[in-house]
This record gives sequence, structure tokens and C-alpha cells, in this order.
Amino acid sequence: MDDATRAAQLLHLRHQNGVPGDPVTAPLIATSTFYLPGDPLAGVPYYGRPTNPTWEALEAALAHLEGAECVTFPSGMAAIAAVLFVLAGKGGTVLLPSDGYYATRRLAAGHLARFGVSVIERPTRTLADDGFDGIAAVFLETPSNPGLDLCDIAAIAQAAHAAGARVVVDNTTMTPLLQRPLDLGADAVVAADTKAPGGHSDALMGHVASRDAALIAALRDWRTLSGSIPGPFEAWLTLRGLETLELRLARMCATAAALAARLQGHPKLRALCYPGLPGHPDHALAARQMAAPGFLIGLTLESRDAAERFITGCPLILPATSFGSVHTSAERRTRWGDAVADGFVRLSVGIEPEKALIPAILQALDAA
Ligand SMILES: *Cc1c(COP(=O)(O)O)cnc(C)c1O
Repeated sequence: MDDATRAAQLLHLRHQNGVPGDPVTAPLIATSTFYLPGDPLAGVPYYGRPTNPTWEALEAALAHLEGAECVTFPSGMAAIAAVLFVLAGKGGTVLLPSDGYYATRRLAAGHLARFGVSVIERPTRTLADDGFDGIAAVFLETPSNPGLDLCDIAAIAQAAHAAGARVVVDNTTMTPLLQRPLDLGADAVVAADTKAPGGHSDALMGHVASRDAALIAALRDWRTLSGSIPGPFEAWLTLRGLETLELRLARMCATAAALAARLQGHPKLRALCYPGLPGHPDHALAARQMAAPGFLIGLTLESRDAAERFITGCPLILPATSFGSVHTSAERRTRWGDAVADGFVRLSVGIEPEKALIPAILQALDAA
């Protein structure tokens, strides 16, 4: 199925077997328990921890986009924790990107390691260089957050599988509309739907997608027993956000590309990072692996103060952490200890009209 058909069909999923009087939207079902006289019946909901009809509606929409079964979790980290704990065997080794999302590394080092799992880290760009012998699970993120480095998902999946390792891709910076790790050979995708899929900064959500039925069953079991379950309202908000994902991404990526082109050579920038620019070290891979170069831009200003002046000096930039929402936002990543320059700013381009946004950003940069 092509991307356009996938996005179009998403908006009609619910009415395929409709009967007159069906609500057009998914019902928001807030219940902890279900009517159940007598013995439990297979496939009939009985309690709110194993299942909820509103999550199931979100999972159906995500499964349509991913082309794979999905299990939702109450945040991106809950999804990552589930897949790491399910895949990492006792005494096994997990490989993580040293420049990826910091909470994943902290979770592994602080909690997986306590159960005898060895955690090793390598930079995204050279993740495959030392091979995958003895590794149980390879976890990767491309483009990485926040440095926007890339790695070749198909090549890594092939080499990792040959060495007997499973491959998990954190696809948060891309979403299934911009990059399709499962089609490239990954065993599972994890994502923070808190970001672009929800898209309105009003809910946290995460999911794991996989075509491996045994892994999906293990993840559902983990969710039920660990109690790491999404709230029905957050699932409902995320489902509503998903309906405009394609539209928002198209605007965000087009504006980001136009802005990146205008930022090239700007005297206030020490470095500019956007995978869509020919100067990005992984530009060719980006063109091959991603449907569009995304909506995140890395800007390095001369100092921490200049970066702060830029962020707070632009009325169309929200100073906030996170990314992928309707509003353009930015933050200096060293405030969380990321291994980047002090003046490094991660800018997440939102849906503001380009005609207003680009001049406002250029003006703030000139004055920074
Ligand atoms: C935000 C983020 C997460 C964590 O998602 P939460 O919903 O905040 O738990 C994981 N990976 C990446 C790449 C992220 O950007």
C-alpha cells in the first residue's frame, strides 16, 4: 500500500462495517470493569487492565499506519521499557545508541543492568561497525534525538539477524508516515505518540509495532501484568490527533525544509543540521530511507546565552521540551546533559504558516 492510500484509508477505517446510527468517532469508554455474569467468555472484556475498547480503536488506527499489530502504552518510555524487558534475556547483551534518547539509556543502565543484562552503547553513525556477535537486541534511533545522525536500518537489520540479534527501532522522530523500519527488516518499532502522532501537547502515549505474533503476545502480557496501561482519555486524544497527522507532517516538513535552506550560511550559526540539506553527512541515506527529512532542525549558536536569546527572542517559538506538536518549539539540549555543544538548539517546526514563521525565526537569530 502506498503512503497516500494508507493516510487516506486511516480516515475511513471505522466506517467499513458501519450500521446506521453508529457514532462517527470512537467512543471514549471510561470503565474499570465490564458486566460479566457467570464464567468468563473468550474475547469478551472483563476488566480494564487487560483491555479497553478506546485503546483498541487507537491500536487499530496505529496498526493500519504501521502495517503491523500494535500494543499501546501510557508513554513512549513505557513502550520502550516493555520491549527492552521482554527482549533482554538474563545475562544477555543489549546495544543502545550512545547519542539516542537519554531516558532509554538511563533505564537500561539503571534498571536492566540490575538483572544481569549487559548494556553497551555505540554512536548511531557507527552502530554497525563492530558487528553484532553476542548481542540479543539492537536498539537504534534514526535520525537520533537530538543530534539527527542517521544509520542504515536495512543494513543493520541484515547484519544483526545474521548474528542472531533482534532489532528494535525508536521511530519517534519520523512516525510510520515518514519512515518504515518494519519494511526495512526491523523486528519491532517503538514510538512516543506523545510527539507528532498526538501532536497537540495534551497527552502522553506510546506504542510498539511488530509483525512477530509471539512478541506482540509477550508485550500484551507484560502490559497486563506490569499494569503499564494507557488511560482511555489519552488514547482518545491520540486517536483524534492521528487523524490529522499526515496533514500536519506535510506542513511541518515543508516548512522545515524551507527554513533549513534559509538558515544555511547564517553568520550566527556555528553549525546547522538537517538531513534534507546536501551538506548533512548522511544526506544520501536520508533520501533513500526517509519519505521526507522531518521537522527537526539542529542549530548550534556560539554560546548558551546566544541560544537562550534566540529561543526566548522569537514570539513564534515556544520554549519547551518535547517536539512534534502544532506549535514550533525549541530548547537548548545541554540543559538535560546531552552530549552536544552548549549553544546547540533543537528546533521542532510546527504548523504556523511559513510566511510568518520563517521571517520571525530569522529575525530572532539575527538578534541573538
Ligand atoms: C520523547 C521520546 C521518548 C519518550 O517518550 P515519552 O512519551 O516522553 O515517554 C522516547 N524516544 C524518543 C526518541 C523521544 O523523543
